[in-house]
Amino acid sequence: MKDIDDIKIKKEIPDVINYIDNLFDSAITDDASDIHIESLKNYLLIRFRKDWDFIIFDKVSIDYAPTITTRLKVLSRVKIDESKKPQDWKIAYISTKKNITVDIRLSTLPTVYWEKVVMRILRQDDSLINIETIWLLDITLERVKQALKSKYWIILVAWPTWSWKSTTLFSIIKNFNPLEYNISTLEDPVEYNMDFVNQSQIRPEIWYTFASWLRSLVRQDPDIIMVWEIRDKETALLSIEAALTWHLVLSTIHTNSASSTIQRLTNMWIEPFLISSAVKMIISQRLAKRICKHCKKEFRVDEIIREKIKSELNDIMDNEEIDKLIFYKWIWCEYCKWTWYKWRVWIHEVLILWEYLEKSILSSATANEIHKMAKKEWMITIIQDAILKAAMWNTTLDEAFKLI
Ligand SMILES: [Zn+2]
Repeated sequence: MKDIDDIKIKKEIPDVINYIDNLFDSAITDDASDIHIESLKNYLLIRFRKDWDFIIFDKVSIDYAPTITTRLKVLSRVKIDESKKPQDWKIAYISTKKNITVDIRLSTLPTVYWEKVVMRILRQDDSLINIETIWLLDITLERVKQALKSKYWIILVAWPTWSWKSTTLFSIIKNFNPLEYNISTLEDPVEYNMDFVNQSQIRPEIWYTFASWLRSLVRQDPDIIMVWEIRDKETALLSIEAALTWHLVLSTIHTNSASSTIQRLTNMWIEPFLISSAVKMIISQRLAKRICKHCKKEFRVDEIIREKIKSELNDIMDNEEIDKLIFYKWIWCEYCKWTWYKWRVWIHEVLILWEYLEKSILSSATANEIHKMAKKEWMITIIQDAILKAAMWNTTLDEAFKLI
């Protein structure tokens, strides 16, 4: 780390707006959790906290203290003229350079020379996410990992609403070392950048669509292909063709559940034999509110709810085990007030299309029939996953039952 005396005090900041934007962008790039601005006798010391360490970002002449703090206050809409009292507020910062939005929680405290400003960076993006951290239950994670070992088929993420489908796709991609594979994606829009991954943006106005891109891509010697969404028969067929010619294809499809995805493909007039030979894993996901660990309170569930839980879990747990489950209520507290948007948990249902389902797909079984068969083969359903996550104090039962 640089010695503090080696860093020159910046005497001139030509554009304070640019300077602050650059400060935020650098903190995001450095993966800092906080930005500290300390007012010393002659200068402002600007540091980043990363994990437990401090990194010096800059030293700026104390003459700029009012300009910098005013700019921060304007961004966070706190009282500009108030510098005698501590203040707390938030900035929603859109980084055009990094193409992400972060919330910055700002706190100011008057000090001898000026004010001390601490800004906590609360990330909204999920660039740090991977398959281990998307809240898969251990048993489901094992199955997903097992399925990922065979690399030539289609993996679909089924999404009924906006539910962070891209996060799941990227977490799967991150499971593969991009230097060992040729990975290409076609996105709409490109949300965040991944090193060594060839990311493209669709542009239908110049006929750069999912289908036209897929046709060109096969000449690029790809291994792993991510198509943002399968919306039509053409894209579905091209994806299946790619999977059957030794590629791993990842995509999303707009359906309500894992089992109804097969029907959705059939409705696009895809031959059942193509579906059964190409599609191997369908991950359906929802979002639930994540409970605040600072104010959660254990509570006794009444008989009616207990029975409801039993009827949902009886094929994966016996009654005695279910009786032992503990659930929690969420009381609102100071801590969760600041971080409310971070409090989400993914609920999953992973359907792996092993041989036992092949016959049903070939005979065009209904979504319900497929769902029942998969359950028999130990697929954890959305509601089961949610109840188990409530028992692991990740969410509440109220949230879980909303998903039925
Ligand atoms: Zn709380």
